[in-house]
Amino acid sequence: MKPRVAIIGAGWAGLAAAITLAPQADVTLFEAGRHAGGRARRVWLDGMALDNGQHILLGAYRDSLRLMREVGVDTSRVLAAQPLCWHQIDGVQLQCPDWPAPWHVLAGLVTARGLRWRDKWALARLLTQLRMRRWQIGHDVAALPWLQQHGQSAALLQGFWTPLILATLNTPPAQASMQLLANVLRDSLGAPDAAASRLLLPTVNLSALFADPAVQWLAAAGCTLRLGHRVRQLQWQPSPHVDGEAFDAVIVATAPQHAARLVNEEKLAQLLKPWQYQPITTVYLRFEGRVCLPQAMTGVARGLGQWWFDRESLSGETGLVSVVISADGEHRTLSREALCARVLDEMRRHVPNLPPLCASWLITEQRATFAANVALPRPAVRLGVKSGYLAGDWLCADYPATLEGAVRSGIAAAQALMQDWKKADEANV
Ligand SMILES: Cc1cc2nc3c(=O)[nH]c(=O)nc-3n(C[C@H](O)[C@H](O)[C@H](O)COP(=O)(O)OP(=O)(O)OC[C@H]3O[C@@H](n4cnc5c(N)ncnc54)[C@H](O)[C@@H]3O)c2cc1C
Repeated sequence: MKPRVAIIGAGWAGLAAAITLAPQADVTLFEAGRHAGGRARRVWLDGMALDNGQHILLGAYRDSLRLMREVGVDTSRVLAAQPLCWHQIDGVQLQCPDWPAPWHVLAGLVTARGLRWRDKWALARLLTQLRMRRWQIGHDVAALPWLQQHGQSAALLQGFWTPLILATLNTPPAQASMQLLANVLRDSLGAPDAAASRLLLPTVNLSALFADPAVQWLAAAGCTLRLGHRVRQLQWQPSPHVDGEAFDAVIVATAPQHAARLVNEEKLAQLLKPWQYQPITTVYLRFEGRVCLPQAMTGVARGLGQWWFDRESLSGETGLVSVVISADGEHRTLSREALCARVLDEMRRHVPNLPPLCASWLITEQRATFAANVALPRPAVRLGVKSGYLAGDWLCADYPATLEGAVRSGIAAAQALMQDWKKADEANV
């Protein structure tokens, strides 16, 4: 007999759980929003369709890429793959050839611009040490002091490590977990095959990338989709009920702050109590004509705007540039107008012949990700209650908050549920 499963939340984690369960369970997917996608989706702002924030994927996102293909997405069309490239318009420029590790990084470092030889050597030595330690740092500590203790100069910290930590962990380096950073390095700079270390930049909007095709696939597979249904009540005893409706099992696939409220379980509430969250701000600037940026993804070492994305070259959105600012910082003290003016000014300083600006939009996801703090305890996918499971980017202990972490957690929750179900079924025979 197939179990009747409720999944609460149609972000990438809930969608991954639903796709995994669809062939073997009777799935109902509840989503509070009118559309699926959660923190990676297309939104409408003043009549303009924009992504809620610029996302990038890595070749190492193996489960995300597999599920995208499973629901019919042509990943070679919707993602522009490029060898690892770090291009700051006013700082470090490092282009790795499409070779296996560690040769791609070594070649990139030899030809890198904006770094002294001393710093190139210190960076290469540290990456080699980390590789030899299998990317395990031992007792977890904050990234900044660890990097300082391991010979990384102020120039390296400013031009490479700080922007890297902000971009990957969305957490200030003084509080970010060095072990999580090492895990990210393992799967990017340290990836054994060149394909895993490639950057994958979306060429379509975020909903088209996965959520919309996933929803269509789930509907065709016979899953029940309750979009626009915010679950208010979750009851575990005597059996799982979602807003009064009975199920055999429930996967709560919401962000942690929502899960804590919904699940109402003491152990989870205690675990999540000290968690902190960090914002991500995206400023969209639309110009009257094409903006000639040096790369599709261009960094700024000395500025408020950390990364510029050329949306025209990526997704054909005429004259559109997205500017990403990760984590909390000075930008949060500025008004919308002042912030847009500052990032525009920074762009004018570096990009010659910038066309006139015609419009700007600002989206701040206040709780974009959990703060990837040192030694953060993570819950398991099995909740402390019978037939209750968790999924979400915050469950995947190996990763900071990422699409891949969300997808892996959804698959893990679905697999744990089916394992338990089969075991109970066998015990009843
Ligand atoms: C601006 C921004 C930029 C990012 N950039 C990157 C990037 O470049 N690369 C990367 O890998 N990751 C990036 N991330 C992180 C990535 O988006 C998240 O890790 C991922 O989307 C989380 O997915 P999730 O399914 O775990 O949670 P969510 O996407 O939060 O999904 C949870 C869903 O649950 C729903 N929900 C909540 N409560 C209820 C309820 N009571 N009833 C029904 N539904 C409910 C919500 O509406 C939501 O749709 C970024 C995030 C942001 C915000």
